[in-house]
Amino acid sequence: MRRAVMGSASLVLRAAAWSSPRLPPLSFIRHRAMSGPNLWVPPPTVLQQPLAVPDRLLLGPGPSNVPPRILAAGGRQLIGHVHKEMFQIMDEIKLGIQYAFQTQNPLTLAISGSGHCAMEAALMNAVERGDVVLVAVNGIWGERAADISERLGADVQQMVKSPGEYFTLKDIEQGLAQHKPAVLFITHGESSSGVLQPLDGLGELCHRYGSLLLVDSVASLGGAPIFMDQQEIDILYSGSQKVLNVPPGTAPISFSERARYHHTPPVNNFFSLREGLAILAEQGLENSWKLHKENCLYLHEGLQKLGLKLFVKEEVARLPTVTTIVVPEGYDWKEITEFLMNKYAIEITGGLGPSVGKVLRIGLMGYNSTKFNVNRVLHALKDALQHCHKSKM
Ligand code: PMP
Repeated sequence: MRRAVMGSASLVLRAAAWSSPRLPPLSFIRHRAMSGPNLWVPPPTVLQQPLAVPDRLLLGPGPSNVPPRILAAGGRQLIGHVHKEMFQIMDEIKLGIQYAFQTQNPLTLAISGSGHCAMEAALMNAVERGDVVLVAVNGIWGERAADISERLGADVQQMVKSPGEYFTLKDIEQGLAQHKPAVLFITHGESSSGVLQPLDGLGELCHRYGSLLLVDSVASLGGAPIFMDQQEIDILYSGSQKVLNVPPGTAPISFSERARYHHTPPVNNFFSLREGLAILAEQGLENSWKLHKENCLYLHEGLQKLGLKLFVKEEVARLPTVTTIVVPEGYDWKEITEFLMNKYAIEITGGLGPSVGKVLRIGLMGYNSTKFNVNRVLHALKDALQHCHKSKM
């Protein structure tokens, strides 16, 4: 009896499916008829397979690989976000960020979100409708900040340099004098072009012209020196998935002015962030900067031996965490990145925004910044240069 009813229900629905374009596909309708009235969407068969995560060496501009200690911290059982132990962990995170940023700002915390969320939070808190925001654009991150500021109703003024170049104090002073901005946005580690922006003297200059200094250090924190208080940076933010080797989803930020909010944070990501900051504190900032510098110089040497050209001309302006290489003549950058991924399970990437088609990018961040990994990527690149030349196609 039950089967007969189900069968006729199926026929009625099938007829309805022919007559009405708004009904779901026949396979769903059959499933619905078989499994009861409420399920229009069947359980996906792919979810009956085990989770598949390949083992890869992530040498792009982030995320970088996560060391076992941090993976283990993120895999711990959850606790409530208002439990006293969570407050303790958040206080520890705050101390870790204050150390990494070299700041004593009380308003120092982790945003529950990616680097973009921190960028948004920073601009949202610093910019009011109609304010002049001066953005130093020498890659995609300045472009992004200009976009967000425009959406916030700011009067956005841009100082534009080609990717690969940085801003001098003179450039900045001209911009400040001309536009009298409420906020100056600048990127410390331009990961799309591999440029390290000098920051000394910038804060003092901004304050002389009545502007706040807002700095993006997503790709540089822990890899290159930054001193928030000594350099008079008003708002500084970073990301978790670069030198800190923490899964994406939390972003350190610090304000020299007051602002407060409350929400449910990603508890386990905070466990991971706490461990990432603990590793950095144990290692010491100076050692971390030194390690990034040494390994990137070792990489640069190897690249040059392969006949490859570095994109950033001045050595002082080369970002130690992300190296950009000029795409060699006669090669397709995409073919090289695909070759490394398919044959060696190594990720390196092409350019981003204004550097697309111009560069290849290799990241060496935190746990991934080792001579062993440099040798691996150089070996893979040498092979790629032999196999990917267009004349071979
Ligand atoms: N700023 C810089 C300099 C970055 O390198 C990145 C990420 N590559 C971001 C901002 C954005 O961070 P996220 O991808 O975590 O949103």
